[in-house]
Amino acid sequence: SSNSTWGTERIIESDMRYVIRSWSQQGKPAQAAIARGEGSWFWDTDGKKYLDFQSQLVNMNLGHQHPRLVEAIVRQVREMAYMGPGFAVQVRAELGELIAEIAPGDLSMSFFTTGGAEANENAVRLAQHVTGRPKVMARYRSYHGATAGALSLTGDPRHHHNGPGVPGVVRFHDPYTYRTPSGQEPENCPVCQGAPHLEEVLQYEDPNTIAAIIVETVTGTNGLIVPPDGYLQSVREVADKYGIFLITDEVMAGYGRTGEWFAFNHWGIVPDIVTSAKGLNSGYVPLGAMTVGDRARQWLNQNKFWGGQTYAGHPLACASALESLKIMQDEHILENVRTQGARLDAGLRKLAERYQIMGDVRGKGLFYGVEFVTDRATREPLVPFGAAGAAAAPMQRMVAEAWEKGLYLSANNNVLRLTPPLIITEDEIDFALEILDDVIGAANARVHG
Ligand code: PLP
Repeated sequence: SSNSTWGTERIIESDMRYVIRSWSQQGKPAQAAIARGEGSWFWDTDGKKYLDFQSQLVNMNLGHQHPRLVEAIVRQVREMAYMGPGFAVQVRAELGELIAEIAPGDLSMSFFTTGGAEANENAVRLAQHVTGRPKVMARYRSYHGATAGALSLTGDPRHHHNGPGVPGVVRFHDPYTYRTPSGQEPENCPVCQGAPHLEEVLQYEDPNTIAAIIVETVTGTNGLIVPPDGYLQSVREVADKYGIFLITDEVMAGYGRTGEWFAFNHWGIVPDIVTSAKGLNSGYVPLGAMTVGDRARQWLNQNKFWGGQTYAGHPLACASALESLKIMQDEHILENVRTQGARLDAGLRKLAERYQIMGDVRGKGLFYGVEFVTDRATREPLVPFGAAGAAAAPMQRMVAEAWEKGLYLSANNNVLRLTPPLIITEDEIDFALEILDDVIGAANARVHG
């Protein structure tokens, strides 16, 4: 039955009783019941519309119900809904080939999973097999997925709820230039430089025990952290020096979000493995990928790949990704990301001239964050790290007020995330900026009067 046959109340009631929602206490009604989406907008079951300035979970990069994308999935399901991952089928082969064309350097061979977490799980395990080493280095301000292994890599507080987790993860610090771990200016901060901090940790750990370093190229959920120029090159050099795999998690940043196919393209490096999901196919069918370079490829051609899933390389998911990438090429999506990203950046910086609580505006392309502070000089966060409930209210109130006005946003800690669909128009950016002006203005008045 279509989702328009039940009224709002009945949908919300049944959802509350029978569906477990991610990362939340159950037994409370969902924020809304949603009926449909189109382009950058979606509608609740009462007919109110919202500009999707999150692209849902930063995955619907081509927006809702893109006609070509829907059609490609329908075509595929008519022809072949599913075929086991052991067989060669054109749609899988064609997707693998197109990714190899788009990806720089020697990145050429992909394993297709059902999401980002599994892509990371496979990347780490493969790096362990190729190197014969047990441990992995991952950063604090990171989110890599919610399976036991991916949550062990994850540094954000969600990893506190992972039971014993998976052993062997060595944590290191983030190139967080707005709040350097050393308290020094970024230029003098050993963490922001990359190598000095990594070398120190490696000296204690023994580089011969480290299979991989995994980093979000541009950190998403945990603060929208853009590394300073030179950082990734430096990490790449350290990885090379010790024969460690560099895995870039581009589940959020990859496939156009930053205005390049991959975020690492901004810094001219090539990882040994890149993991992706979300924007790879705009989320129409669950899909993730790990794409590997020569070192892993050569090993895989002589050894078994010790991984698999019933739905590895699901034809519907592959068809959606293949079409998604072609749409991105045909519709010049990367250009739009740069143009609209520049407009969003300029608009936010203008707001920051008026509102003291906007401590930092940062991002690339349409991957933006605004970090809120009570005081620009001290940079005291508007809400403390890990704040929940009442402590998070100053941020959550902005999100709720934007929602009331028809703008869908999210915040994590003291950072508001702005990640609209990559098809967003100038008018839609301006619509969002107007609402942001209102809600940030009100929040600013609550702090500064
Ligand atoms: N890695 C990053 C950077 C992410 O942002 C996410 C999801 O938000 C994941 C991995 C996990 O992906 P999934 O939820 O598809 O397992």
